[in-house]
Amino acid sequence: MSKRVPIAEGLFTWPAERPALLGSRCNNCGIASFPVAESCMACSGQDVTIEELPSRGTLWTWTIQQFMPKSPYNSGETPETFRPYGVGYLELPGGVRVEGRLTENDPEKLHIGMEMDVVFDTWRTDSNGDEIIGFFFQPSN
Ligand SMILES: [Zn+2]
Repeated sequence: MSKRVPIAEGLFTWPAERPALLGSRCNNCGIASFPVAESCMACSGQDVTIEELPSRGTLWTWTIQQFMPKSPYNSGETPETFRPYGVGYLELPGGVRVEGRLTENDPEKLHIGMEMDVVFDTWRTDSNGDEIIGFFFQPSN
């Protein structure tokens, strides 16, 4: 039986009815980071709390990736099946910026500052049939 497994441990809550990205927030200076870091990148403090990040933010910057990504970011494409895709940074309330793939690859439909939702979907299917789940940014309705 095939399973749905996260692309990496500790990136987001899983399994969960409403998965959420996991970040760490520094109890000393309040800066949040993604992915979870054991010490604060701003002040090097080691007193951090892991928290679920908001699921909606604004697009901070983006680009269209025209080339196949290298492993481990490769999602099973071949030069024949590869399609350009959007990548960008989503700025979440609280000030953390998360890099990820966009569900949209039409530059006409993307602009800095637009609202986007974090969604969880199949990144690729493993050779044993397991679905590898990753996160994507999708324009909000
Ligand atoms: Zn800090």
